[in-house]
Amino acid sequence: MNLTTPVSFFHSESMRCIGKNVMPLSTVCNAKCIFCSNKMNPFKIHRCGFRPYREVVEHLYHYMNLISSYDEIRLSDTMPGTLSEGEATLHPQFFKICKLIRKHRPTNPLHITTNGALLTEEFISKMAKLRPFHLCISYHSTNVDHWCKIYGMNEKQFETATNAWKLCKDAGLSLSGAVVALPSVVGYEDLKKTLLWMNSFSPYGLFLWEPGYSKMASKEMLEIMKVDHEEFKAFVYEMYKACDNVGITWEKDPDLPLDIQPQFYMADTLKENIYRKVMWLTAEASYDRLVELVAHANQHVANEHYVQKVVNHTYGGNINCNGLLMIDDMRKAVFEGRDVFEPDLVITSNAMLDAYGNDMTGAHYTDVTHIPMWWRN
Ligand code: SF4
Repeated sequence: MNLTTPVSFFHSESMRCIGKNVMPLSTVCNAKCIFCSNKMNPFKIHRCGFRPYREVVEHLYHYMNLISSYDEIRLSDTMPGTLSEGEATLHPQFFKICKLIRKHRPTNPLHITTNGALLTEEFISKMAKLRPFHLCISYHSTNVDHWCKIYGMNEKQFETATNAWKLCKDAGLSLSGAVVALPSVVGYEDLKKTLLWMNSFSPYGLFLWEPGYSKMASKEMLEIMKVDHEEFKAFVYEMYKACDNVGITWEKDPDLPLDIQPQFYMADTLKENIYRKVMWLTAEASYDRLVELVAHANQHVANEHYVQKVVNHTYGGNINCNGLLMIDDMRKAVFEGRDVFEPDLVITSNAMLDAYGNDMTGAHYTDVTHIPMWWRN
């Protein structure tokens, strides 16, 4: 690479995700969603228009060689809280880029998440020629007034996004759907109708999100996003049954088993008999489940393991997942936890860290504590 070439934020984000299959094309959006996380980030997120074509070429030829022939190439996802989310289909060279990727990578499925407002018949037929192509259409209501209110878009855009479901299915594109549940705006009946309607297209998955808000949310936003958690949980369980041919994913489901097996990490902590007291850090959402798993596994090992809850002070609001914790939150948690448990090793999830061990604010994991620290997947 010519070192005199100015490096855009898009490119530096790609570098942080080396080895991953993510190459967002746009930080520009044609919608103004009332819940958009871009409006609520507690620190600066970068908006840098569309990814330049030369950066696509460079990323594809230099860095995407590290992925397998069957990994999806994701053109919409961004590292949360760093780059502004955007609509990939707005990129003026969208098809030129997709064709280039297809030429270089004949088997990798392309993947976009889209609000669907640009998915006309012509657009969809062009995508179909580039299959395998996966689309996740974010679609929050089948009711035109609700959809327009949520997206800040017009009726014509609603029609395009709605018609896109059948057109995509007929064109052989693989589909999934994402719904941000806003019962205080649309009501549970509308939410149910929307999920059942999406389910009728047999997508490969439906992703249901409980609205997340940070301490930066305005009063008006909080009013729109308020959800009674127990009521919502009952609704989701009803929908699990109603849509069982497809499968709904609700990532915040407190009954989902955690995808972690502490006994393997515990076995490593015992090697050479160095670590006697191990502190596990985890966000509020997974705390109870991790406590149970660790307590169970700890019965079979000779050293001591303790789970410390990490509260997300950086984002505040109802943000309680591992992926949005910052180093500063972890540092505070270790400090507080040491009143009751003095560890000689700390284990934490790596969900919030980039390939170099930095969080979104640029803080490095070695800033958490001077105590040795391991990441877990
Ligand atoms: S479609 Fe996505 S990026 Fe665009 S405004 Fe809505 S939430 Fe934000």
